[in-house]
Amino acid sequence: MIVNKVDVVIIGAGASGLMCAATAGYRGKSVLVLDHANKAGKKILMSGGGRCNFTNMDASPKHFLSSNAHFCISALRRYSPQDFVDLVDRHGLEYVEKTPGQLFCEHSAKDLLAILLTECEWAGVTIQLNTNIEQVEDIPTDTNSEQDSLHSVKRIHTSNGIIECDSLVIATGGLSIPTMGATGFGYKVAEQFGLTVLPTRAGLVPLTLQPSDKERFAELSGVSSDVTASFNDTHFTEPMLFTHRGLSGPAILQISNFWTPGHPIFINLIPQQDIKAQLIQLRQDSPKATLEKWLTKQLPKRLVQVLVEENEWQGSFSELSNAKIDRISEQLSNWIIKPNGTEGYRTAEVTLGGVDTEFVSSKTFEAKNVPGLYFIGEVLDVTGWLGGYNFQWAWASGYAAGQFV
Ligand SMILES: Cc1cc2nc3c(=O)[nH]c(=O)nc-3n(C[C@H](O)[C@H](O)[C@H](O)COP(=O)(O)OP(=O)(O)OC[C@H]3O[C@@H](n4cnc5c(N)ncnc54)[C@H](O)[C@@H]3O)c2cc1C
Repeated sequence: MIVNKVDVVIIGAGASGLMCAATAGYRGKSVLVLDHANKAGKKILMSGGGRCNFTNMDASPKHFLSSNAHFCISALRRYSPQDFVDLVDRHGLEYVEKTPGQLFCEHSAKDLLAILLTECEWAGVTIQLNTNIEQVEDIPTDTNSEQDSLHSVKRIHTSNGIIECDSLVIATGGLSIPTMGATGFGYKVAEQFGLTVLPTRAGLVPLTLQPSDKERFAELSGVSSDVTASFNDTHFTEPMLFTHRGLSGPAILQISNFWTPGHPIFINLIPQQDIKAQLIQLRQDSPKATLEKWLTKQLPKRLVQVLVEENEWQGSFSELSNAKIDRISEQLSNWIIKPNGTEGYRTAEVTLGGVDTEFVSSKTFEAKNVPGLYFIGEVLDVTGWLGGYNFQWAWASGYAAGQFV
């Protein structure tokens, strides 16, 4: 049996795995990155519409969901968005700030992936693709010394042979977009070694509508409007998009992280105005003008047509009673939608839940009860909002683990 030995094996050549690999490589460790895909960083390439929203300058712990809200603090503090910007600046990456704080590649996500691969090359990292992982074993080292007995060796059986390492890093991400190579491998390894995996569900994902609403809004497919989407105490003011399946766009993807099935979400269609006060003022100032005409100045025309027809909002402002103004403003500012579900992992950007961080050190990312086994990135129960936060988590957790493997 030929067994190759390296210091560190990282399973997953994605964002966190490549960051961890380069960091450990620069420390002089021999690092092998394994991935079953035929290409490294596939999600990086498809992210941000092909331009990768690679960080958010405002990233802070409040932008992350986890059952252990404090877990992300240490790593985010030790590797900031500015640290990542300094890295890409050293490589001359051209980037743009689209909305405040959100940085995208100016040209293509390929440029960002090239930087990570160059860093890995400079750090002496070996990346082996097209490699299926069959089994992971913990082999106790043959020693009586108390210290060494803590350090077992990890043996990884792959389709390309057997490898042993002192540190095994699981960087296999979440379940979203299975066609891009996402698997539940990391969760299985966690369970094999006695760590708890918290229930997972699709996040940053379009919401589907009940069949009756789907029919009602079918003709609005493609219409986008700036709204405030709310669920409980969480609100996001961003564009919302009607699709042929339901609702999408940043406002909906954001709120999907917080939504729980069976409950309604609330949409303010004209968030920038006090609608009731405005309608009362218009009834006084422009009694002959129509609600429909005013609405077309605030909302896309096709959406106005559906609202006016469904609610019988034809007529001039002078015809509006106070009660009707109340109803109209309520409907526009507190539109209640009860989603049917989500589009699921097929289109989700992230996976909520995952490896329970209670079992992992927030300093080293090593499993507390399994020396030499590390979990980083999205496989952990840490999920960012939309806006570059998920990549910042991948960089920060990968960098932190890379210091200790
Ligand atoms: C469409 C889309 C757009 C996105 N856009 C953004 C964005 O603009 N900004 C942002 O911050 N976040 C974005 N995200 C989220 C971001 O891509 C992820 O949070 C991030 O890639 C997670 O990094 P990771 O290293 O944990 O996992 P990944 O980058 O997913 O890497 C995991 C790697 O593990 C490999 N792997 C999985 N299972 C196995 C196995 N069994 N054996 C071997 N290898 C395996 C995979 O092939 C993959 O290479 C987007 C996600 C999607 C799906």
